[in-house]
Amino acid sequence: MQILVLGGAGYIGGHTSVVLTERGHQVVIADNFSNSSRAAVARLEQVVGAPLPLHELDVRDSVGLERVFSQYRFDAVMHFAALKAVGESCKKPLDYFDNNISGTITVLRAMSEANVRRLVFSSSATVYGDPEQVPVREDAPLQASNPYGRTKLVMEQLIGDLCTADPNFRAAVLRYFNPVGAHPSGLIGEDPNGPPNNLMPFMCQVAVGRRERLQVFGDDYPTVDGTGVRDYLHVMDLARAHVDALDYLCNKDRSVTVNLGTGSGVSVLQMVKAFERAAGKAIPYDIVARRLGDSATVFADPGLAHALLGWKAEHDLDAMCRDAWRWQALNPQGYGSIIQPD
Ligand code: NAD
Ligand code: UDP
Repeated sequence: MQILVLGGAGYIGGHTSVVLTERGHQVVIADNFSNSSRAAVARLEQVVGAPLPLHELDVRDSVGLERVFSQYRFDAVMHFAALKAVGESCKKPLDYFDNNISGTITVLRAMSEANVRRLVFSSSATVYGDPEQVPVREDAPLQASNPYGRTKLVMEQLIGDLCTADPNFRAAVLRYFNPVGAHPSGLIGEDPNGPPNNLMPFMCQVAVGRRERLQVFGDDYPTVDGTGVRDYLHVMDLARAHVDALDYLCNKDRSVTVNLGTGSGVSVLQMVKAFERAAGKAIPYDIVARRLGDSATVFADPGLAHALLGWKAEHDLDAMCRDAWRWQALNPQGYGSIIQPD
């Protein structure tokens, strides 16, 4: 099938483009490079061993989107293009509403007009807010704790309304828990702009010498060692889930909303230990105050994804840390260490 990957130059869209290509699909990437680069796409091409059609495009640009849709006959769209920093969303909520929500409306309209009726959408465990119960099931109460989370909640609702209005529209809404790791080649990986917000890329940058010490946000949570517990998931498992979800849309001809996680909770200090083993070096850290808005414990019940898509996470924590570290060690400055082709 021919698949339009919006946000395909980014971390998860890039890894998914690789798996799509490996599974025989033709990928077309569109991205505005607000949080990625052409260098990342050049590396993707190196991994798949073939050129990938690329369009520099903002998903809010309806004319540009229409042009891309008219150039190909897409069987489905995978929509990764969003801003994703929780802290930034609290400071600039309008930017998040515009980029994520307006962008998604523009994408949905372009799909309708081009008669493309299959969508795989990047949602997030953030739609559960601070969950009352773990493991979190898909029928748990939904709630936005910050503007970023609100955009995910609203986008899920918009997609749901479209599925109701158009009986032929099929969507797979994928609620990711904590994606980490990288392609085993070490050629592609996560390359955040500025200081990383997330634990894994921060540890990677400490290990490679770009940052001095990790700050552990709180050790007084009611957890195994007092630090926050999350459900970390290898990005290659996550990428595979997108292709499984696409198969589901085509074969079962039904829409679906599922959690994507391993189902296991890991504390910050357990994660630090696992990473130290993988990298073969110590990660110096300080315990500091809790980060505002953090939950104590969040992990998925991934049973529905297994039952419906036949998907299950396969990589363990050691593989996640090993692959994240390989990427960072080979690319200390991320994609910035590469000369960008024009
Ligand atoms: P990323 O920033 O690496 O990738 C997103 C890509 O979309 C980037 O290449 C960016 O340049 C592009 N983009 C953003 N706005 C755009 C626009 N208006 N037009 C065109 N391109 C645009 O992020 P990621 O980690 O790969 O996340 C992908 C998706 O998964 C996002 O929707 C994110 O909210 C969601 N998600 C991510 C995580 C995570 O921890 N990484 C967790 C849950 C959900
Ligand atoms: N965390 C931390 N130091 C950091 C970044 C994160 O201690 O520099 C903790 C954070 O409080 C949480 C866990 O690591 O308990 C995962 O945080 P991340 O931001 O990666 O994911 P999220 O909180 O969005 O699930």
